[in-house]
Amino acid sequence: MASPEEPTVAALSRFLASRLDVTSVGIFLVNGPRARLWSGTEAFLLAWSHRDRVREGSAATRRDADEAPAEHYPLPAAVTALLCAETASRLDPAEIGLDAKYAVIKPVLVADVPRAFLLLLSGRHRWLGQGADAAMQDAADIVSGLLGQPRSGSAMAADTRGSNPAEVDVVTVSHSAALRMIRDLPRIAGEAGGRTLLMLDIDRFRSINEALGSATGDVILARLGGRLEQALGPEDCLARLGGDRFLILSRKSGAPIGDLASSLLASVTAPLPVGGEPVFIQATIGQVEEPSGEDMPAATLFMQADKALKRGKAEGGNRVSIHDPTHDAALRALSRLEVELGSAIRADQLHLVYQPYISLLDGSVAGVEALLRWQHPGRGELTPGSFMTLAEESGRILPIGSWVLREALCRAVDWPDSVRLSVNISALQFQQPDFTAQVDSALALSGFPADRLELEITETVLMRDDPETHGQLRTLIARGIRIALDDFGTGYSALSYLARLPHHRIKLDKSFVDDLDNPTTSKVIQAIVSSARAQGITVTAEGIETEARLKLVREMGFTHAQGFLVGTPMSDPSKLLNRPFRHAIA
Ligand code: C2E
Ligand code: MG
Ligand code: MG
Repeated sequence: MASPEEPTVAALSRFLASRLDVTSVGIFLVNGPRARLWSGTEAFLLAWSHRDRVREGSAATRRDADEAPAEHYPLPAAVTALLCAETASRLDPAEIGLDAKYAVIKPVLVADVPRAFLLLLSGRHRWLGQGADAAMQDAADIVSGLLGQPRSGSAMAADTRGSNPAEVDVVTVSHSAALRMIRDLPRIAGEAGGRTLLMLDIDRFRSINEALGSATGDVILARLGGRLEQALGPEDCLARLGGDRFLILSRKSGAPIGDLASSLLASVTAPLPVGGEPVFIQATIGQVEEPSGEDMPAATLFMQADKALKRGKAEGGNRVSIHDPTHDAALRALSRLEVELGSAIRADQLHLVYQPYISLLDGSVAGVEALLRWQHPGRGELTPGSFMTLAEESGRILPIGSWVLREALCRAVDWPDSVRLSVNISALQFQQPDFTAQVDSALALSGFPADRLELEITETVLMRDDPETHGQLRTLIARGIRIALDDFGTGYSALSYLARLPHHRIKLDKSFVDDLDNPTTSKVIQAIVSSARAQGITVTAEGIETEARLKLVREMGFTHAQGFLVGTPMSDPSKLLNRPFRHAIA
């Protein structure tokens, strides 16, 4: 993946090279007594070999540096001392053993706190001392701007600060480098144990990446990297384990670790502006705490955090999941479940149940929603809550989703003409280039009329505001197919999505319907219902369980209702379909 900062740092190098004879620019972000490389490979190599000289009394070879290019590493004592000084402005390279003629080091202050330092090297043995100050000040201003506190008057400001100031390309570490980081985490007062690992993984990042495009996905990761970094304490370390997974290392020191995990989660879930629109991201954290006084192998800690993360994902994500050895058996079962899901279609273990929804005008059954069930040989009937995350994250939802379409259409072909069929489509499925062809072939196979089919999609699909999505929706709608926006009110609920892409029905999530006694919720929902109806969009209340709630949503202007009161999901709904639900209109 290309780092979002690369163009900026390349531009910075060009700028400095035009003012000075600089061959390499290194930017090191400071994280307490540790730093990590932000950019500048050559400068890094030099600092790295320097580090090895300091530690082991021997010069590092290029191979050493190649093997460990991405670690956090301790700063030389002179640098740490300088960074702790309140008004740091200049550091003499000689203090850390570099040749002062060919290198310049400048701390970068953000709100008067040292947050990074710049290392400039002249590879052509040109003296950098003279004239370097002004150029360095400009460069420091630019970096300071990138780190979040733009300053005025820099020659480079215009073409660098346009990027997101909070973007941080967190260094990606290999598995072995991650284990080294865990081993090297400094001890508090020399005491063993007490390390904490948090493994953070973005929920359904694959869908987000496909919905918004991988370039935007990269920007999102860089912005989340910036937020994570901000949420960390000075002693904590952050690295990326590739993809959308991050590793955070901490030592117990006062604040409970739970607080750190929750604040990291909060920093990820706060709305993230991307291209002027808020994107709502969720994540799961696997957490393991090493008991004080006990030195556990780094690999064990890593594996336990990984397991806790897996369990958190299986429980639906968007949570902090703490490692607990008694859960190992459950985890093994989960891995088995994912494998078994792969053969569930062939083994004929999947089936659909059907839940009706009614018109609030006359109580008639307006449509039926197909809902997936898995008849597991050992566990009995499973609802999607216990396997949908596994299915989506593994991609197994793709064959399952196309099976659902065919199966539901074939079943519904004998239902009365007045009844629509609604099928849930996962974002990943909708984003497949052959999705329309899949729908066409299921329609042709079943003979079910396109104008009675409705596809229930979630707002994740509508986040993608590109010609392909518009084209796909237009093609489907041109066939007479209707589009419903499911689970409205959860996840990515930005009203702007509503206006963006065509749809015919909004399904307001049960959590919102349950909260209608809350005056604020009620006001917001009332506005959504009125504006939708004015545009000819119908509005369904999901999860109606009581007469009182049914009455309330009818009074609020909802056009349809679905829920256990009206009808539970059932294998054969055909008996119900011609019978109006009378007390809906009483
Ligand atoms: P959904 O599409 O919002 O479906 C409504 C869910 O709420 C269903 O859960 C339904 O059984 C449940 N429900 C309906 N009325 C009530 C009620 O009055 N009270 C309560 N407490 N619950 C009610 P289910 O069948 O477990 O499905 C959960 C979710 O799984 C669905 O939410 C949908 O997002 C997803 N899903 C189900 N089938 C499929 C499928 O074939 N493909 C895809 N991609 N997703 C599916
Ligand atoms: Mg649905
Ligand atoms: Mg729903």
